[in-house]
Amino acid sequence: MKIHEYQAKEILEKYNVAVPAGIATTTVEETVEAAKKLKEEGATLFVVKAQIHAGGRGKGRTKKNNAKGVVLCKSIDEVKEAAENLLGDVLVTVQTGEEGQLVQRLYVTDGVDIKSEFYLGILMDRAVSKNVIMASTEGGVEIEKVAEETPEKIVKEWVEPGMDLQPNQARRIAFALGLEGDALKKGIKFVQALYKAYEETDANMFEINPLIVTPDNDVYALDAKVTFDDNALYRHPDLAELKDESEENPAELEAQKYDLNYIKLDGNVGCMVNGAGLAMATMDIIKLSGGDPANFLDVGGGANVETVKNGFRIILEDQNVKAILINIFGGIVRCDRVANGVIEAVKDPEIAEKVEGVPIIVRLQGTNAEEAKEIIDNSDLNVISAVLLKEAAEEVSKVLA
Ligand code: ADP
Ligand code: MG
Repeated sequence: MKIHEYQAKEILEKYNVAVPAGIATTTVEETVEAAKKLKEEGATLFVVKAQIHAGGRGKGRTKKNNAKGVVLCKSIDEVKEAAENLLGDVLVTVQTGEEGQLVQRLYVTDGVDIKSEFYLGILMDRAVSKNVIMASTEGGVEIEKVAEETPEKIVKEWVEPGMDLQPNQARRIAFALGLEGDALKKGIKFVQALYKAYEETDANMFEINPLIVTPDNDVYALDAKVTFDDNALYRHPDLAELKDESEENPAELEAQKYDLNYIKLDGNVGCMVNGAGLAMATMDIIKLSGGDPANFLDVGGGANVETVKNGFRIILEDQNVKAILINIFGGIVRCDRVANGVIEAVKDPEIAEKVEGVPIIVRLQGTNAEEAKEIIDNSDLNVISAVLLKEAAEEVSKVLA
């Protein structure tokens, strides 16, 4: 689960990770009031930041007003102008795709003098099953780019499972960033506090880009990107509440309600499959046959009429879908039942209307596969049966040609 920068910073503050003062807002008036409050507390510069679930905001632009997603403001008037430009406009960044994301929330924060910018990230290194802390002197730059072009500029410290981050590891990170004196001390504390926050919240990732040092040798997180492990959210009801559904793909949200595993992709072949491994294989073979999957959809073990119907509903919400490939292995569930389920689902008036003109190719293998094929072949619906997965994928290519 992703959260907004302002939410991430509230968590950081709880763990004594230094962040500049800031206030989240949803209207121009609130934003102006927030800036006035920060000014009373001593702020002389302000930064207005669009809150969307995507990075690259500083270099992004909004569609209508061509406004930057991160705006440095010297006065309350400039804050007002930035808020007017951003709220309600659609921000496009390297991470949002062309369609961009609607800006519904802002974060007004103290403008900080920057002496140097760094990168600091914590995540799970799956190759070695250990948490890894990554730091780089190349702050404010995408870490993927640094990894590709100048990998020697990234230092890593792996933390042994079941152990805390060791003080000498935090020191090594801070040293590697070239911190000295007061900044070094603060930097070490920062790394330790950040690791504690990461561990205790069951996060997948904490990314501070940039981490900065001011001319007074203060150390701050200027940006914060945090994602949590969905499977651990039950242990953190307070964090689960931070979910902002308006930032998520509507079809993916609906799929979650039905307990379906759905991820939207850009192709035109809808896939309905049971089991994640089979789903991956199905997507591969669609590609090999010259097609392009419109989604990943794992309907799980028991593919009954209801799950098949829900699967159709979600797949058909995607206007790009020109054909649907159903690939179910009948192990626990019998193929003839699935075949009847597919037919019943396609006859459902709501689905029948949407599925018109979209050929359905069904490949059922496993228990009672032959009966299943007969059921499909004898139905008068726009459903094509196939025995082999390759055949099924070729049928898809044929109907799309
Ligand atoms: P994004 O990563 O989405 O572009 P950031 O929060 O990293 O957004 O902001 C982009 C850049 O704006 C930062 O690299 C930093 O140079 C500048 N910036 C962000 N917040 C502040 C701040 N509070 N004070 C001064 N500069 C800031
Ligand atoms: Mg950033």
